[in-house]
Amino acid sequence: MRPFPPEVRAQVIELDGGMCQWPGCGHPATEIAHLHSRGSGGTPDGRRDAIPNLMCACYRHARYTDGETGGDAYGYYLDAHYTLLGRQARHLAAHPERLAWARAEALGRHLARVRSWTDIPASMPSDGTP
Ligand SMILES: [Zn+2]
Repeated sequence: MRPFPPEVRAQVIELDGGMCQWPGCGHPATEIAHLHSRGSGGTPDGRRDAIPNLMCACYRHARYTDGETGGDAYGYYLDAHYTLLGRQARHLAAHPERLAWARAEALGRHLARVRSWTDIPASMPSDGTP
């Protein structure tokens, strides 16, 4: 995996307090995850490494945001989506791409609510590229 620019990584960790931001998780983060990941079709506007598309995640939820379900883990994967999306997840379970898109959008709305955007310096890069 391509590393993030250090300043982007530091800002995401600060915004999220170093904790997984999947609703209801609260475990310490092990990595920075993309909401709209390559595995889920990429970002709508190409800003893959922009801060609104990034969050701190524990190992399991980082795999989920990448769309990795790992065989036996598929049940846990769907359960996590039911928690995040409610009944919508049941309707989308048969459509992995649409489920991934709905997941990314729901996580984005969640982050927009819980993050303190005023903490982001005005010099924040518009995307992850230096
Ligand atoms: Zn988590």
